[in-house]
Amino acid sequence: MKIVFATNNQNKVREVQALLPDTIELLSLKDLKCFEDIPETSATIEGNAIQKAQYVYDNYGYSCFADDTGLEVEALNGEPGIYSARYAGPEKDAEKNMQKLLSNLATKNNRNAHFKTVIALVGFSPELLTFEGICKGEITTEKLGDQGFGYDPIFMPKGYQTTFAQMPLAEKNKIGHRGKAVQKLISFFK
Ligand code: IMP
Repeated sequence: MKIVFATNNQNKVREVQALLPDTIELLSLKDLKCFEDIPETSATIEGNAIQKAQYVYDNYGYSCFADDTGLEVEALNGEPGIYSARYAGPEKDAEKNMQKLLSNLATKNNRNAHFKTVIALVGFSPELLTFEGICKGEITTEKLGDQGFGYDPIFMPKGYQTTFAQMPLAEKNKIGHRGKAVQKLISFFK
């Protein structure tokens, strides 16, 4: 059975393919020759994941799943949320995003935050399924570590004394938002 993972990131495709049963062959957007900008105009993380998966299903006819992730900070009413990638501007600069977040939190005592990933799967029964992964933690007051990407250097998961950027990828995947959502998806397929 062929299923599309609506992403341009071949690493993500390989990682998830390795966890799936052999009966499932994952296709990427590149495999579909889909080079268009898939609309992501929803007001929620869940809505964006659904929108992307539904778009591929409707336009290309393959069952499809898509993921969307955001960092939601309590003291900022859930910001940056759906704007996580372009928090400091359209250039999607991780460094600037972190600086903006640190400066917006400078006067706040509550530094609680969580990452949320939603994977939406379209084309099975029921027609739409969603799988959510949440990782709670805190925003540090300075950057720590140089692994990972995005907000990793300023996110310290609950129960840890290190940021995501200070831990091995395998550890992050085990406790992280995306890993948890992917595990739920894998369980569904199994
Ligand atoms: P996406 O939906 O996976 O493209 O994630 C949107 C944005 O959220 C990314 O551009 C990053 O800024 C941020 N983000 C997502 N996942 C992570 C993560 O695991 N660590 C740090 N930042 C992340």
